[in-house]
Amino acid sequence: MIDRRLLLASVAGMFGLAALRMLKPSPARSAGKFEIEKSDAEWRARLTPQQYEILRNQGTERPWSSALLKEHRKGVFACAGCDLPLFSSETKFESGTGWPSFYRPLENAVGTIEDRSDGMVRTEVHCRRCGGHLGHVFDDGPKPTGLRYCMDGLALVFHPATPSPS
Ligand SMILES: [Zn+2]
Repeated sequence: MIDRRLLLASVAGMFGLAALRMLKPSPARSAGKFEIEKSDAEWRARLTPQQYEILRNQGTERPWSSALLKEHRKGVFACAGCDLPLFSSETKFESGTGWPSFYRPLENAVGTIEDRSDGMVRTEVHCRRCGGHLGHVFDDGPKPTGLRYCMDGLALVFHPATPSPS
């Protein structure tokens, strides 16, 4: 009898943990409906496993791993999930953190939500169109905004500006 109760309790415990794990990484998705909604399977098919882990599972890439750190051309950084333009190269700066950093997003490009995961209170930044997780914003950035949008390079794709015809 006791064994059976213990067994049931531990099974319930495991399910509880699994449910928590599934619920935890969803501040972006719980923020409401997004213009672009896809099933989990569709996102997995569209994104690389690393992109999926960041955009759909609030993951974080290793610092200094992004090729976009060295991207200094003029252009636009768009969402890797839905290609919405998010940041202009004009607002990119060297933060020294190892993640691509910007002091201001484009108009109507991102949404933010309080993120209390990992024992910290941070402001999570996501694409306003597909809800994809992009990174966090901190208030230790440069002028003129004083903000530091600390982005995962894998959540972004760079589109170089088309050179003006000469
Ligand atoms: Zn998006």
